[in-house]
Amino acid sequence: MASEIFERDRHVTFLQMEYQLLPSPYQSQEINSLTLAYFVISGLDLLAAPDRLVDKEAVAKWVLSLQAHPRSQSELDNGQFYGFYGSRSAQFPSEDKDNGALLSCSVSNLASTYCAVAILKIIGYDLSSIDSESILMSMRNLQQPDGSFMPIHTGAETDLRFIYCAVAICHMMGNWSGMDKEKAKAYIINCQRSDFFFQSYDGGFGLTPGSESHGLSPHLISSSVTSFPLEFRSFVPLQRQAADGGFQGRPNKPSDTCYAFWIGSVLKVIGGHKFIDKKALHGFLLTCQSEYGGFSKFPGDFPDLYHSYYGFTAFSLLEEPGLKPLCVELGMSAIAAIGI
Ligand SMILES: [Zn+2]
Repeated sequence: MASEIFERDRHVTFLQMEYQLLPSPYQSQEINSLTLAYFVISGLDLLAAPDRLVDKEAVAKWVLSLQAHPRSQSELDNGQFYGFYGSRSAQFPSEDKDNGALLSCSVSNLASTYCAVAILKIIGYDLSSIDSESILMSMRNLQQPDGSFMPIHTGAETDLRFIYCAVAICHMMGNWSGMDKEKAKAYIINCQRSDFFFQSYDGGFGLTPGSESHGLSPHLISSSVTSFPLEFRSFVPLQRQAADGGFQGRPNKPSDTCYAFWIGSVLKVIGGHKFIDKKALHGFLLTCQSEYGGFSKFPGDFPDLYHSYYGFTAFSLLEEPGLKPLCVELGMSAIAAIGI
């Protein structure tokens, strides 16, 4: 039977186990090591776990060892991105035998770079001591003429998620030389939907201009960048709270733990959080809480790190005792975001 309370201590134990050794189902996700580490370390921080559980020096050393560095100053102009590799294996170049191109997994990418900088910030590492010039100068190579960002310099899909990564990186480093803010702003506004789509009026944002609106939101981006005043102030996201109390990412989709964060944080940013049926959401989230600690995507499934982390952030938004307040814009505790 599902527990009726937020099992903080079990969650700490769950994350502690993942910090020491990831279970075998994560083997195929080795390439996302930095992202998985972000979920574990930020999760332990949000749960106010004792400091001794994380060896901050070892974590900083490991994260910094994944940074890509140009061999010379002149290499900074060669169009490559010098951010962070997703994992150790990604640092070894591997060629696509058919066309001789470098495989996308062997280059540094924006999402890993966001996670690396976030981890360093959470453990209190002095960000001014990292090679930010290479990261920011080369990040401009990823911004497209329409303002969007590619995650890697060898080419890939562009959408709002990567603008978010770029914005968060600039914000955390306190340096906006890595992007053209005006172009990014124009792209974000282009992604807002104001027409009838999928038979319902939905004033949300698509991940790309013209695409179906989605729970992921540029409000998080806009609020990180004080010069991005979006006129959009609707409470449309509230329509995503389903009958079972959970939030869905899009109309007609089942409720999913992670959207309690994605939608809940949007509502927090636009001032609509007080209109959530908190009791119902609390109830739904508890049905996804695992008896082993952590949260699953849907009720009754096994927990995974991604949904566990967003379960913790959702409970922080619900002001659950034992969890630190959340900085929704950066996806970490408010204390880590301030840098105390
Ligand atoms: Zn999900």
